[in-house]
Amino acid sequence: MNRTVAVYPGSFDPVHHGHLDVIDRCRPLFGEVVVAVLANEEKQPCFSVEERLEMLRELLADRPGCRVESFSGLLVDFMDRLGARCVVRGLRAVSDFEYEFQMALMNRRLNPRVETVFMMPHEDYSYLSSRLVKEVFRLGGDLTGLVPQPVLERLGRRLGAGAAAAPAPRRAAEPAR
Ligand code: ADP
Repeated sequence: MNRTVAVYPGSFDPVHHGHLDVIDRCRPLFGEVVVAVLANEEKQPCFSVEERLEMLRELLADRPGCRVESFSGLLVDFMDRLGARCVVRGLRAVSDFEYEFQMALMNRRLNPRVETVFMMPHEDYSYLSSRLVKEVFRLGGDLTGLVPQPVLERLGRRLGAGAAAAPAPRRAAEPAR
């Protein structure tokens, strides 16, 4: 039986299909995947930690072997509390590499038992980030297939329902401008 616990930490503000793709790739490889939402007071998140936990728990409810937790402070300390040794991070492009490489080596220095594993998402999601999701949503862009429906609904409630709505169809009598 595979008892290796993988911890997938991040902001998940909000969770999107790139994150879910990484989680789904981890599930057959590890006994348990703990998705760990970072409570970072310095960042001004769109969603509170509780809201992010709720969204993740809702989306992962039908994925056995996944658990969602929050943490603050050092990731390696959280991992010690869980008895976990493996961190999972997503690598989208070379631009992610430098920061991820620094983090992985710092975490290893802080706790030599901790190893970091990098997962590449499906190429359909390699350009997707939570920041871009919020930006495109605010501007009314179509995020179908990139962001789960319950998350789109929450974005609508948080940022204004109009943001993601398709433009209202013109009435026949209305002159084209
Ligand atoms: P953080 O603030 O820690 O980068 P994010 O929620 O942005 O938090 O990302 C959490 C993890 O998910 C990171 O490892 C990040 O590289 C990865 N990730 C983010 N977007 C994608 C994506 N589109 N495909 C694969 N991995 C991703």
